[in-house]
Amino acid sequence: MKINSEQEMLEFGKNFDITSNVIELIGDVGAGKTTFVRGLAEQLNIKEPVTSPSFTISKSYAGKTKTLIHYDFYRLEDPGIMQEDLLENLKNPNNIIVIEWSDSVKDILPENHTIINIKYNDDNSREVEIQ
Ligand code: ADP
Ligand code: MG
Repeated sequence: MKINSEQEMLEFGKNFDITSNVIELIGDVGAGKTTFVRGLAEQLNIKEPVTSPSFTISKSYAGKTKTLIHYDFYRLEDPGIMQEDLLENLKNPNNIIVIEWSDSVKDILPENHTIINIKYNDDNSREVEIQ
């Protein structure tokens, strides 16, 4: 699927059919992963602005019925205590968990979670693939 602009990426997140409580986002820095999460937050009625959790690794946003938990394990070889935190949050079916740079925690993700791949095109558009 082709996403032509930041606005379209927000819309994509806003309308995304959440079929699994765990969504893994794959794509280079600046691909639009966090932008997608912003759209998702809108869908979940979260008013608080979503910002990249790079330094804190995770950020949590309470929505109307679900809680959005956004992880970013960028360049973290050993997730340490954050792996326990993720494991704990995976147990709660009210959590929608979105993960950027999941390499170090791949083993603990449920088998049938959603994977979204985002790739740059030359013209600022993005190619999005859902698995
Ligand atoms: P990531 O989390 O993957 O590192 P971000 O979502 O933080 O990426 O940043 C993506 C950047 O690319 C934003 O500044 C956004 O405005 C810009 N952008 C330009 N075109 C698009 C597009 N088609 N889809 C998503 N983001 C886009
Ligand atoms: Mg990001």
